[in-house]
Amino acid sequence: MKPDVNPSSHASAPFDPQQLSRALLDWYGQAGRDLPWRQTRDPYRIWLSEIMLQQTTVAAVIGYYQRFLENFPTVEHLAAAPQEAVIDLWAGLGYYARARNLHAAAQRVVEDFAGSFPAEIDELMSLPGVGRSTAGAISSLAFERRAPILDGNVRRILCRLFAWQDAPRSSRAEKQLWLWADLLTPGQQVHDYTQAIMDLGATVCTPRSPDCESCPLSSFCQARRQGIEQELPLKPKRKKVPVRTEAALLICRDGSYFVRRRQASGLLGGLWEFPTISVPEGKPPEQQAAQLLRDQGVSGRLKSLGKIEHLYSHFRLELHLFHANLAEPQLVNEESGDWCPADELENLALHGAHKKGLTLLGG
Ligand code: SF4
Repeated sequence: MKPDVNPSSHASAPFDPQQLSRALLDWYGQAGRDLPWRQTRDPYRIWLSEIMLQQTTVAAVIGYYQRFLENFPTVEHLAAAPQEAVIDLWAGLGYYARARNLHAAAQRVVEDFAGSFPAEIDELMSLPGVGRSTAGAISSLAFERRAPILDGNVRRILCRLFAWQDAPRSSRAEKQLWLWADLLTPGQQVHDYTQAIMDLGATVCTPRSPDCESCPLSSFCQARRQGIEQELPLKPKRKKVPVRTEAALLICRDGSYFVRRRQASGLLGGLWEFPTISVPEGKPPEQQAAQLLRDQGVSGRLKSLGKIEHLYSHFRLELHLFHANLAEPQLVNEESGDWCPADELENLALHGAHKKGLTLLGG
């Protein structure tokens, strides 16, 4: 897929783009962050860090990045690993589709590119989980190719620099912001420029409180000039999302809990969960939970632990959790799952709502 850029969109700036990139590079020379993936030009390591950093902070990623490299030092090691091993190592980082895509992309690199990451944007974008911005980051950071990026940080900076007072995620915004990102990307030192603009967004031009006083771009910034930097980018209008209700059973035996792995494909694929049942509208969750307990081949007294809510991209989940303490010799249908000691649940690749539900166990 070729990057889609609308040639009719307008790509000029009310300042000299070269002066701006010079100011940013000078600042980066003094204030740039020293991060583990910055000491390499290895595209495998850079790709790994870029995928991990999507939707996650640097502080959360560092330990995972190091553990992944210890377990999978090359793309061949990652490609050869079972998908479950990749998902289990990803446990706690969230957005598990990234782990599945990571594994699938490693296999593509080995099979289609003989184990060497491509440098071209469209070839990089053919890998699962690699969008245009991630492709731009890999191409510029690993191969020193002139390629713009437009991640969340850069999107915010551009909205402020150019005082973009429209929705920041519309298709119109998408085209215009990519043109501006391209306009500002210099022909030289593109590796440093990419790192610099990421750092500026993470440390200076932050979402809630941009530090314009110490910003190297303040003399170029149109939002700052108009005093509207706090208001940009405009917040997207909240959409009403449908609600799903489920009941989950925390079945306990000898201090361990019964968990099962979800199917590899589909929503939250490959993650662990407690046995779960959908609760149709109007039905009491307790009734469904009791049915689910019978489905597991056991009877017992259920204790309600409470309810948690978890927001997914296209629905909100209301999850009712119930505790069921099994007395010997009762057994659930163990073929479909496994027993996990209570103190290891935190480290298990449980899906987000169920992980959140663990907080109710302590009470
Ligand atoms: S001047 Fe302020 S709003 Fe503008 S880019 Fe710098 S930190 Fe962001």
